[in-house]
Amino acid sequence: MLSGKTALVTGSTSGIGLGIAEQFAKAGANIILNGMGDAAEIESTRAKLAAQYPVTVRFDGADMSQPEAIEAMFASVNAEFGGVDILVNNAGIQFVAPVDEFPTAKWDAILAINLTSAFHTTRLALPHMKKKQWGRIIQVASAHALVASPFKSAYVAAKHGIAGLTKTVALEVAEQGITVNAVCPGYVWTPLVEKQIPETAKARGITEAEVIQNVLLTAQPTKKFVTVEQVAALAGFLASDAAASITGAVIPIDGGWTAH
Ligand code: NAD
Repeated sequence: MLSGKTALVTGSTSGIGLGIAEQFAKAGANIILNGMGDAAEIESTRAKLAAQYPVTVRFDGADMSQPEAIEAMFASVNAEFGGVDILVNNAGIQFVAPVDEFPTAKWDAILAINLTSAFHTTRLALPHMKKKQWGRIIQVASAHALVASPFKSAYVAAKHGIAGLTKTVALEVAEQGITVNAVCPGYVWTPLVEKQIPETAKARGITEAEVIQNVLLTAQPTKKFVTVEQVAALAGFLASDAAASITGAVIPIDGGWTAH
């Protein structure tokens, strides 16, 4: 379905991004993995994907907080593949603290990685998509692009920002075969969620078990974590021709959370 296309998934060394990368590899797209982590583990993930599917899988370790690194990644992807056809802006970090105690360096890092990087990847991907008159930009936003939670000021601000970027760019390229959408997962069990449990426990003065039951799963009427595979399947659908009329959409996949 996507053979001959190239998909860049930022932050795809683990969690949701890796699930989406696998979804696109399965559909026949060449894959650029990106993200942080142990070099040997990343190489083993890359090699496994390349062995499992008949596609080319590359890794680029560009730090998404650094515009020059993002530019260098695009220069190398453009040289090898001609351009990025499917861009998934997924890289993200989280930090949980009351706003008046929020470390300013954490604010800057969250805004840079979760929001500004998507501006850079989008501006660098669009010329090729416009030339081809086909493209897909998929943001992995969050239920926090639609509603807030206390103690997550930077994350909620960045994710609401991504929703605005999605709608704006969708309008700019609507006549050129390019769709731009945001998927908004509720809580998905990944390293990002695991890491915030102790911070949330501290910020709210409750135990870690209470965080899971009374904070995370309370938000979701289904009382279940969303799965990586479910988010990846939605991204896969948005990349398909069947989804050509879906653009500028900010789509919850959150077990009913934002229906509250
Ligand atoms: P994760 O921690 O498993 O993955 C995050 C990825 O981003 C990793 O590959 C990591 O290496 C990468 N990354 C972090 N900083 C980076 C940087 N400076 N440059 C390049 N890559 C960087 O977390 P996840 O839960 O899979 O999160 C993926 C996305 O999904 C994030 O944008 C997150 O906000 C969003 N999200 C997650 C949940 C959830 O419950 N897990 C819910 C809604 C939205």
